[in-house]
Amino acid sequence: MNSETSKLDTPVTAFRGVGEARAAALLKMGILTAGDLLRCYPRAYQNRGDTVTLAEIREKLRNGESDGPFSVLLTIAAEPSVSMIRRGMTLLKVRAFDETDAVEITYFNQTYLRDKLTTGASFRFFGKFTLEKSKLKINSPICEPYAEGVPLPDIVPVYPLSAGLTQKMMASLVRDALRMCGNEIAEFLPSDALAELHLPTLGCTLTNIHKPESMDALEGAKRRLVFDELYLMFLSIALSGAKLRRDNTIPMKLSHEDAAAFKAVLPFELTNAQRRSVNEIAADMGGESLMNRILTGDVGSGKTIVAAAAIYIAVKNGYRAALMVPTEILANQHYEDLSGLFGKLGITCALLTGSTKKKERERILAGLNNSVRNGSGLNDDGPDSHTIDVVIGTHALISEGTVIDRLGLAVIDEQHRFGVTQRAALFEKAADVHCLVMSATPIPRTLTLATYGSIDVSRIDELPAGRQKIDTFIVDERYRERLNAFIRKQKQEGHQVYVVCPAVDEAEDDPYAKSYDGNDTDEMADVPLVENWRDTSVPLKAATVFAEVLAEALPDLKVGYVHGKQKPAQREAVMAEFASGELDVLVSTTVIEVGVNVPNATLMIVENAERFGLSQLHQLRGRVGRGKAKSYFILVSDSKSPVAKDRLNAIKSTSDGFKIAEYDLEMRGPGDFIGENGIIRQHGQMNFTLAATCRDTDMIERASYYAKRTAADDPELTEEINRRAAKQLGRFVKEFGNTQN
Ligand code: ADP
Ligand code: MG
Repeated sequence: MNSETSKLDTPVTAFRGVGEARAAALLKMGILTAGDLLRCYPRAYQNRGDTVTLAEIREKLRNGESDGPFSVLLTIAAEPSVSMIRRGMTLLKVRAFDETDAVEITYFNQTYLRDKLTTGASFRFFGKFTLEKSKLKINSPICEPYAEGVPLPDIVPVYPLSAGLTQKMMASLVRDALRMCGNEIAEFLPSDALAELHLPTLGCTLTNIHKPESMDALEGAKRRLVFDELYLMFLSIALSGAKLRRDNTIPMKLSHEDAAAFKAVLPFELTNAQRRSVNEIAADMGGESLMNRILTGDVGSGKTIVAAAAIYIAVKNGYRAALMVPTEILANQHYEDLSGLFGKLGITCALLTGSTKKKERERILAGLNNSVRNGSGLNDDGPDSHTIDVVIGTHALISEGTVIDRLGLAVIDEQHRFGVTQRAALFEKAADVHCLVMSATPIPRTLTLATYGSIDVSRIDELPAGRQKIDTFIVDERYRERLNAFIRKQKQEGHQVYVVCPAVDEAEDDPYAKSYDGNDTDEMADVPLVENWRDTSVPLKAATVFAEVLAEALPDLKVGYVHGKQKPAQREAVMAEFASGELDVLVSTTVIEVGVNVPNATLMIVENAERFGLSQLHQLRGRVGRGKAKSYFILVSDSKSPVAKDRLNAIKSTSDGFKIAEYDLEMRGPGDFIGENGIIRQHGQMNFTLAATCRDTDMIERASYYAKRTAADDPELTEEINRRAAKQLGRFVKEFGNTQN
């Protein structure tokens, strides 16, 4: 990219005090260079600047208000005493005082402090306090020598560490890196963006992230880092979208008679939103360049029929169409729905999946490679009853050896469920044809660019009339008996029940509870760099274990379970048992979020509801209420967190997926969209961490604006400032560029 050597590229091994072992420890955290050190952000900060008196602390402890950490300025009262409490464990005790009170300080295995903590010397101590028999105590506080006129840093960073590193070492390495590269940190954001959003320059930002002058300066620096990530994320996606834009086309028209014939076979009137989407698609297909459109709408909003309209247009113009879905179950469902409809229009469909038998597969492949009907319904070389116009299937459609002659349209359902390599193959196959992607994941408008790049978006924001409302309840553990009784009642009425758990099995690490590395100063870190909205205080329920618990509580019911660690075949077998009514209760992780249609299921219970993203809960709710019978969605949560309660109430109060998505975004940032649902992340493995917590929708919107502008003005990122942005991009986006073309 640019060949000038920069001090930022100085290897850590050139730093004072970094030998082989330390270099290896740093490498574990991905730190190779001075630049990496600067980008190793503290995970939290200690505010040691606000010192309090011992009397104030005593008061707080007595009231049960807080046990710290507090910062105090104390003078040592007498020489420390050191004793051996057991083999390999020494205890150092020392008394210290300020003008209001005295305290006993203890340290374990830090005998060397004996020579430091001399009578009459002053220190700043930072730690948690206890009150034992009205005596104030501190255990292992951080201590810093204090002298009038020699300032101590008020806000102290706490770094993530790997074994063999200490806070002190990291802080000193970062200080050296700042000293070495301070002048070289070049700006990559447009200057008008900095001005508009009152953001500090990059140099100033990195300085304040590592050595904050004040809490305000630190806040400014954090905002800037969040904006950086948002800007880069939007930029990478706007650029990948630009690459997708294709200038060639396959113009397709639809006559009034044909349109009328299609309408005539529909069992219902299209909703306004469906009609609008069909018109947008028809305009694309008849336009100057190939269609590149995503159709989003809640589960049940009727996307399939809109896709069917697109397929119909392609076939009427003498082309074949392919509809690809992530699972066999979905493929079967689509095939059943669409072959019935198209049968009435004289259009032939075929189903091609991994389990299609060899002979049938050969028949289909032959049918996809002989001449097609032309617009008038006749083959070029005479009628051929074996020709196939529409093929519906799983990724078997893009497997090697599957050739579709005269393919004019590719429709992809729930594309984010496909793996990265599959998606790449998919877009390769669809490179020269009209492309329609469908998604039931409602995305807030501000994030549509981040999610879909420069793809056009149609939104079905209206459900067909007469849909039943799913009653939503929020309960806690005290309702367990009643919940079980309610499950049994559903069964007695001939219905089925889903139970969703956040984890697969008990051994599973809770990825959120352990987001910090658990080093010794951990619990003192009072200002985290990144907040975590998730209430992790309630233990996780695991699907496998909970299925057993339920089976025991409901011995007369048949309980099965599915989760993502099972082999797909095993999972699909259990799903099929549930679909056929053999199982009464299906316990699962979120693997059932998409695509299963069991109209007989009337109740879904979500355990540990506080752990799920709102959009995810909304998706889950879409699994019930698919039949005629009244359906229920019950969120079980023992969370006491007000944020968690607010979030669950949002699910209860609206059934509009787009509203829920906007709400989720406002409440806790695009984390859910970037994060584990992987909606955005799917565009390449991006490592955004700070942006995920941004709750400032205005900031998100502005980042999107500037990124789009940069991508449009300088798509090759050749200007100096954008070259620097390109370099920054490399840090975040590992697979950028090779997933979509
Ligand atoms: P999704 O958007 O989740 O893919 P589907 O296309 O599967 O939704 O449609 C859900 C159900 O709604 C189907 O049974 C379909 O026949 C029905 N449906 C679709 N559009 C309408 C409409 N305009 N009026 C009534 N029912 C409709
Ligand atoms: Mg669908």
